[in-house]
Parts: sequence; C-alpha cells; structure tokens
Amino acid sequence: MTQVTENKKLSTEKSLMAMKKFAEKYAKNTDTYFCVYPSVTAVVIEGLAKHKDELGAPLCPCRHYEDKEAEVKATYWNCPCVPMRERKECHCMLFLTPGNDFAGEKQEISLADLESARANM
Ligand code: SF4
Repeated sequence: MTQVTENKKLSTEKSLMAMKKFAEKYAKNTDTYFCVYPSVTAVVIEGLAKHKDELGAPLCPCRHYEDKEAEVKATYWNCPCVPMRERKECHCMLFLTPGNDFAGEKQEISLADLESARANM
C-alpha cells in the first residue's frame, strides 16, 4: 500500500483508517447506511482522508472550493458538515437514510473495497 500511496498521491494509511473508523461509527450513531455500491463509499472516504492529510481536517471532498484553507477554517463543510448534522443531508452519498433508493444495509466497509477503489484512482 505504501508504494501505491506514494505513486498516486493517495491518502496515508493513518488518515484512511481514521476516516474509515469515523464513517462507520458516525453511520451507526445517526442510523444512516452506506451506499449499495461500495465504490461510492470508498471514494468519499479516500477523499476525506486525503483532505485530512493535506489540510488537517476532513473537508467534504464532493465540492469545489476557491480556497480550501479558508473553508476548513469556516468549518461548515468539515465532515460531518452542517447539512448532515442538522438534516441528515449528505450530498456525497456517504451517509444515506434508510429510505434512500441508494442506501444499502451496511454501516461498515471492508479494507478490500477501500483498496479496490484506491487502485482505480
Ligand atoms: Fe461529510 Fe457532509 Fe460531505 Fe457527506 S456531504 S461526506 S456528511 S461533509
């Protein structure tokens, strides 16, 4: 994994594991579920971990920012973002409410699914 991380500028293993744990715990705490397609979940977790490495905070990876450092300081889009905390709205499809058409039955993601998505980045 180390070599892949270096070659493709993926997140560090430490941040990836931290965001995996965060996402699994947060899904359980909020009664939300991961997407039926594990690659969607994996790409978002990788994006969060990469931002954690680069910016020191898991800024939402599904948005465009003019100034990422300023957005981190503003905190609104640091995961879990305000729309998620207030209304359970996750536009990245990481945390899905049970009635969502794309919601699966899992609140955990395997390392294999994470690595498979990273290999395709
Ligand atoms: Fe996290 Fe919000 Fe982005 Fe979902 S939309 S991944 S809760 S920051």
